[in-house]
Amino acid sequence: MTEPPHVCRHCDERITDPDDAVAVAHEAGNSGPGWTVWAHREHADLVELIDPDLLRIMLRIWSAKVQQPET
Ligand SMILES: [Zn+2]
Repeated sequence: MTEPPHVCRHCDERITDPDDAVAVAHEAGNSGPGWTVWAHREHADLVELIDPDLLRIMLRIWSAKVQQPET
């Protein structure tokens, strides 16, 4: 079972090493099961949780980034 790469809440970089991924929060979604907020192990303490509306916008930006081809 392969999961999509997590994105660090602090630095917006993908977390490529599963051992480096720390779940810092779980946020409920309006129309789904919600999602887990991830951060690099060394960034977990630096994450500032933001409000869900802003997060939704950020997730849209992140998913748009993911869909772009690597350059
Ligand atoms: Zn990070």
